Amino acid sequence: MSGLHSFAFTDINAFHTALQNGQTTCVEAVLFYTNAIAEHAHLNAFLEVYADEALARAQQLDEAAANGVLTGPLHGVVVGLKDVIAYKGHTLTASSKMLGQFESVYHATATQKLLDAGAIIIGRQNCDEFAMGSSNENSAFGPVRNAADTERVSGGSSGGSAVAVQANLCMISLGSDTGGSVRQPADFCGVVGIKPSYGRVSRYGLIAYASSFDQIGIFSKTVADAALVLEVIAGPDAYDSTVSQQPVQPYSQAVASAVANTTSDSQSNPKTYKLAYFKEALHHPSLDPAIQTQTLAYIAKLEAAGHTVDPISFGLLDYVVPTYYVLTTAEASSNLSRYDGVRFGHRTNKTSIDLTEMYKASRSEGFGPEVKRRILLGTFVLSEGFYDAYFTKAQQVRQLLKQQTDTIFSQYDAILSPTVPAPAFKIGEKSDDPIEMFLADIYTVYPNLVGIPAISIPLFTHPNGMPFGLQLMTRSFDEMTLLQLSAQLMELKP
Ligand code: GLN
Repeated sequence: MSGLHSFAFTDINAFHTALQNGQTTCVEAVLFYTNAIAEHAHLNAFLEVYADEALARAQQLDEAAANGVLTGPLHGVVVGLKDVIAYKGHTLTASSKMLGQFESVYHATATQKLLDAGAIIIGRQNCDEFAMGSSNENSAFGPVRNAADTERVSGGSSGGSAVAVQANLCMISLGSDTGGSVRQPADFCGVVGIKPSYGRVSRYGLIAYASSFDQIGIFSKTVADAALVLEVIAGPDAYDSTVSQQPVQPYSQAVASAVANTTSDSQSNPKTYKLAYFKEALHHPSLDPAIQTQTLAYIAKLEAAGHTVDPISFGLLDYVVPTYYVLTTAEASSNLSRYDGVRFGHRTNKTSIDLTEMYKASRSEGFGPEVKRRILLGTFVLSEGFYDAYFTKAQQVRQLLKQQTDTIFSQYDAILSPTVPAPAFKIGEKSDDPIEMFLADIYTVYPNLVGIPAISIPLFTHPNGMPFGLQLMTRSFDEMTLLQLSAQLMELKP
């Protein structure tokens, strides 16, 4: 067995080869990561670490694979879970005081599938309260720090999950993405982050924010790892009626062949794609000039490599953020009504008050300011007299967006855009300006509004030293193209 600090993780495949060659063990992996988490406690990525049970599971896995045969596709893979994904017998709080010490009584389907595939769950990761935010500053347990510059935000809402992969605190994280919460922190932290199509992965056991938008997503170092994990967690589930019956395709195998075709010594030519980008997105006033320049230069490079990249017009771009915030706050106000101080979670200590006062006090004490703002906004847009002006109108825009999206994908394989208009900002810099924070979601909310899959791949470095990504989107349930194209582009460095 090699020394603890020599453990290095490049991807799941390499880890499995090392396991089979006897160069490492699952126990060694767990010891390495629990040690790394402790050494990086200042990043605040984990709210809880399951050190002992992860070690016990690693021992079992090592014993089970003593003959060199691994127990499943994710044998020994060390995974962190965003604090919105249920893990039976473990605390689940959505980084909110509202849930207190609530303990999950069942596994999320994604958690169950990870465990069935041989994964080791290492801990629970910090996030924005109830997944509402873009900087992880809305957590009741403090912000997560970006490992590339600890004065800067991790992004959000899955900030802890992104930083955990960025800083080598686990191999893979699962997060959730309602309007960018996987892709935006992936962009800020320089890792891969994928949001599958709506209905690709079961939402059973995922704490609901806006149910018609929410999807579980994956953080990884490589596209190949994201493909393998998606293959494991995707697919039909009797516990979620919105999940698709469409069979899961062999994503990881397809990615491996895309990479093989792309590397220089290959005989066959890499596949060329028909790509589009929105002119309004690449020329948006909010877009950071360095991100614009580097993205446009990369587009020229893609064309030189034989891909078609057409600028197309998308007049609805400035409507996506308002539409998203009307619809998601409406859904959130309904979803969060269950936190009433009666059934579970926080209940006020105040006595001698009536039922309504008890609800009010419990909710006022339990929820943080951003969650309150969204419940109020959502209740407002759903209220009599405003319903048609806001909620119905936003539904109509969503429908229009879907129609335009279908038209685009009848002509193109994929759409590309920056993931976020600017790189990770300083902690505290935007906390007083919620509108500014909302507007920065301009590129990430669109895929959730129309249900298509989207990924952020870490291609670029800003002149200020921070990483940033490229977002790719394909038609619904075409994760195959999304992942193959991403793997190919990861080989085509800017
Ligand atoms: N930043 C967006 C919001 O605050 C996205 C959140 C998410 O995807 N969970 O709503």
